[in-house]
Amino acid sequence: MLSALPTRPSTGRFAPSPTGKLHIGNVYTALGAYLSARRLRHSRFILRIEDLDTSKDTSKASEKIIRDLEWLGFEWDELVFQSDRLDIYREALRELRDLNPQDPVVYPCSCSRREICQESPADPIDGMRVYKGKCRKNPPSSPEGCSLRLKAPHEGEKRVEVRDFIFGSRIFNLERQIGDAVLRRRDGQFTYQLAVAVDDGIEGIGQVVRGRDLLKSSALQIYIRRLLGLKDLRFAHLPLILENGGGKMSKSKGSVDVSTLKEWGASPEQIIGFCAWLMHICPTPVPVPLGIEECVKLFSYKKVKFGPNRLKDVELPACFSDPHWWRRGGASSERTLYGIYG
Ligand SMILES: [Zn+2]
Repeated sequence: MLSALPTRPSTGRFAPSPTGKLHIGNVYTALGAYLSARRLRHSRFILRIEDLDTSKDTSKASEKIIRDLEWLGFEWDELVFQSDRLDIYREALRELRDLNPQDPVVYPCSCSRREICQESPADPIDGMRVYKGKCRKNPPSSPEGCSLRLKAPHEGEKRVEVRDFIFGSRIFNLERQIGDAVLRRRDGQFTYQLAVAVDDGIEGIGQVVRGRDLLKSSALQIYIRRLLGLKDLRFAHLPLILENGGGKMSKSKGSVDVSTLKEWGASPEQIIGFCAWLMHICPTPVPVPLGIEECVKLFSYKKVKFGPNRLKDVELPACFSDPHWWRRGGASSERTLYGIYG
């Protein structure tokens, strides 16, 4: 059995992957996760670096993300690295493989990425592909070089409810919408889905706040947790912040990041205030500089989800990519105007 801390509603986390620099969408998500935990008494906030891909040296990128979050004013109770937990993921995978020996829930799959891409389209939102189950029906002759997949239940627990502070209750059909997910890749790397389910469980996370592109993944992670005997938890999937022009922001594709904003002269309070405004918790029609602790007082899910249009993803306003807007203090003149610091 995995040793897990008790699940507490006030324990939250932010879990960036060190694949690039921290962009404004990441800061917005970090802020949402932070405020959602810190508004509760006896909160615990964990910063988890999702450095599962040990084939690359990500230590510099991790260090940069940590420094940027500190500069912005975030404080965490614990810092963890997935790369330190490979033994735990191995143990969890063994537990799953040992379940129900008559009809194991994990099976080897020899299909190449190309085959899988050919047979099922990627979901436009999260990129997930529903595996058609070829190797579930016809097991490969040898498990060597195979990935390991988790069987989506055909019956019984095939429908999983995700309880979300923003999206309400959402039911997903594991078999139809997610299919048999990979737990360990052919190269031996544990997948995001397995690692996150295990991490949230052992850290006693009671609320997961992240972008809505991971809403469907939550159903799978709940299912994995249940198989491992871990309790359910609550979620909040925030609408996404999109680039000017509507594209998804990306660390690796060079979306404007915290260091660039810093070079442009932005202060931590300007960036936090801007993200609070994107989240609709800011009491003013335009962004104003705000400290993180002020945001804790302003935060409520009613504001984040209020109104029919609020669940939509939002594009960054044009001012965001204008260095002058930040340099001249951006909205800092509004500080006195609105008396936020009054
Ligand atoms: Zn296969």
